[in-house]
Amino acid sequence: MSNPPPHLTPAELEAWQTAIQEANRHNVFCHCRRCDREWVASNYVACLCGSTDVEYILCWQFPDD
Ligand SMILES: [Zn+2]
Repeated sequence: MSNPPPHLTPAELEAWQTAIQEANRHNVFCHCRRCDREWVASNYVACLCGSTDVEYILCWQFPDD
C-alpha cells in the first residue's frame, strides 16, 4: 500500500501522495483502552470517557485486506 502503482503519470502520482498525506492527517483510528470505544478522528484526542489511555493507529497502517 505504500508503493504507488507504476503506471501513474507524475500528476496522478502527486495526487496519490497528497491523498496519503491527507489520510494520515485526518484519519486517525482511535481505540480507548479504558472503555473500548473506537472512533476515527482528525487529531490525537482523549476519549469521551475522559481517558487519555487511547491507542492511535494511522489509517495507512491498516493491512490492504
Ligand atoms: Zn473511553
